[in-house]
Amino acid sequence: MLASYSRCWAEIDTQAISHNVKEVQKLIGQTKIMGIVKANAYGHGDIECARALVECGIDYFGVSSVDEALRLRQAGICENILILGYTPEEHFHYLHEENIVQSLISYSYAQCLNDYAKEKKVKIRAHCKVDTGMCRTGIIYQDQEKNLDEIVSEYQMSNLQVEGIFSHFPVSDDLSKENKDFTSHQIELFHEVIVALKEKGIDPGIRHIQNSYGILNYGDLGFDYCRPGLLYMGVTSDDSIPIESQPDFIPILSLYANVSLVKWIHPGQSVSYGRHYIASKPVKVATISIGYADGLPRLVSNQNLEVLVNGVRCPLIGNICMDQCMVDVTNVDSVHQGDIVCIIGTQNGERVTVDQISRLAHTINNETLSCITARVPRLEKR
Ligand SMILES: *Cc1c(COP(=O)(O)O)cnc(C)c1O
Repeated sequence: MLASYSRCWAEIDTQAISHNVKEVQKLIGQTKIMGIVKANAYGHGDIECARALVECGIDYFGVSSVDEALRLRQAGICENILILGYTPEEHFHYLHEENIVQSLISYSYAQCLNDYAKEKKVKIRAHCKVDTGMCRTGIIYQDQEKNLDEIVSEYQMSNLQVEGIFSHFPVSDDLSKENKDFTSHQIELFHEVIVALKEKGIDPGIRHIQNSYGILNYGDLGFDYCRPGLLYMGVTSDDSIPIESQPDFIPILSLYANVSLVKWIHPGQSVSYGRHYIASKPVKVATISIGYADGLPRLVSNQNLEVLVNGVRCPLIGNICMDQCMVDVTNVDSVHQGDIVCIIGTQNGERVTVDQISRLAHTINNETLSCITARVPRLEKR
């Protein structure tokens, strides 16, 4: 563990990324990995993660916006970058200037991008997004409506270089029969489009459909790329959801704070805003320097979330404040100002996970991790 840093800090173990990538590769055969590093790599540090992924041989990245793509370019990442979402027209110029690949989120959007590229006399790289069931972006290709002509037309646009085709799973995490059937049908529809394009003499380019749960539950589907975000970070969305494979991931993020004050309180004294915790006996309380403005959700207050103080599991008490919260450290013999508290990670062989926080906050790890705020320094473990 690194030396303490300001109030609270996240430690990112980029070494563990290569272990996690190998675990993913065991599941996907020859399929290559497009590393999804959107939203600052879900709070883990996009540039640091992208650099570690490049060292693992990853040659494609996925981001949500042109801003995120430019951050990677400015950091010297020269691999392929696909923008999964929408780029506004006034930012189209970055696409050809910085050699960024744009998702064609609809047919009219592709026309607009092509018109721009024609006017500028440039070719813009793109992937065709096919909507096989998410109903978010892409040309709809579902049982109720199959817009194959539009997909074909995108490939024929004069100033777009359509180098790939992709779709996305909304329920690949769910092993109920209904949702497994839904996902399998999406895979069939995706195959159908690819075959139809080939029959028309069109090379579909690189094909990709699997997110993290698509990899864990559907394995090697024989496509060209898959798009994991969470998995190289060593976690799933929710460790209580059963999955079809048993990968051995190492979570790459740990979260720490400092003890700022230790004191005893008397029976009847209350702790924090709202006075929701009232001591029923003498209690040794440690104030620690992390709060909801760092990303520890206020929603988990008063639910006995355990953190590690000198390796001992101790419950939070009272409401989580903006920059601080309180912990019952009665069971820890020796606690002092400046001691390090582990909120996510391992300390003296004990482990607390992001999953514990996410379950109490009624959310998934994707959200908990990506909501660790910008003021929390990310320190790379070396
Ligand atoms: C975010 C995202 C992913 C990665 O999702 P994970 O569940 O983290 O693997 C893949 N594809 C698309 C289109 C996404 O938006």
